[in-house]
Amino acid sequence: MVIQFGLVDSVAGRTYYAENKIVIDSIVWKKATVLDKEFLLFHEFGHLLLNRPHNLQTLPNGEYKSMMQSYENIPIIENTLLYLGVRRKYYIDELFDINTPTPDWSKSQYDPFPITNSTRKLLASQDFDESKELSTYLDQSPNAQFKIQEKGILNVKLPKGYGFGLYTDKVLELANILPAKRNDFIKSNNYEVEVRYRLKSGTFNYSYSPNTYQNQAVFSHTFNPISCKVFSSIFYFRFSNYTINNDFNTVRLVRKGNFWSIYLNGKHLFYTDVWSADQANQLIFTIYGNEENAEAEFDLDYFRLYEL
Ligand SMILES: [Zn+2]
Repeated sequence: MVIQFGLVDSVAGRTYYAENKIVIDSIVWKKATVLDKEFLLFHEFGHLLLNRPHNLQTLPNGEYKSMMQSYENIPIIENTLLYLGVRRKYYIDELFDINTPTPDWSKSQYDPFPITNSTRKLLASQDFDESKELSTYLDQSPNAQFKIQEKGILNVKLPKGYGFGLYTDKVLELANILPAKRNDFIKSNNYEVEVRYRLKSGTFNYSYSPNTYQNQAVFSHTFNPISCKVFSSIFYFRFSNYTINNDFNTVRLVRKGNFWSIYLNGKHLFYTDVWSADQANQLIFTIYGNEENAEAEFDLDYFRLYEL
């Protein structure tokens, strides 16, 4: 078998059976992470050594069933494949055995972190009852409009091109949580963030990062299915539609040890390993409008932080 760098049109790598050869695009290779490289080579080995053709089948939640998936000849790429941690293990098993059982994380009824009264303790809550706290947000986003139209509901209007951040440390500060305790919470690996919102126009985004801004997942709610994009990876995923349009939606982000999950309206959406766990932990959860498209308007009911 020969593996070499070379030009391959519009794909990262290609297998030539007759010549027993794999050709990898050197520009793609240079930019790729270690896991991207492993994925690329294992995919090509799947063709050449295991004789596996492409497979576009999906798991119950819509993620790809096999790392033998292909983006070639797909007019609109809606989903890409996340290759790390529990997923990496599953995809390698599946590469050798197409009958590998369906992984739990892809099942709609999967609930890795069920809520019980004893599992979470409310640490801080931003309920938007008092307008005096609004100055905190106004300072951060001078171009946004904030209004408490009805008690306990913050209405946010974001002009095109502007975001608005609701930061965890700010909520802890507003709740008069002592700095040392705030610090512990942000660095802890066991917490929950809960937010209740209603989208009125545009796009509502929330992003989570377990460690650095470069390693974040962004969830977007337009009046379409919710989607998730993971930076530092090619992963992009369009979930089944659990969003409620024109009414309130509740999002729960649960972090436990080296795993985290997102729930939307009581339904489990997404479970994954923490990325780059070797990096310092810090909780970054922000809410913002879409910075590219039209202006966004949404109502926030509350933003809560729990200790687990
Ligand atoms: Zn292929």
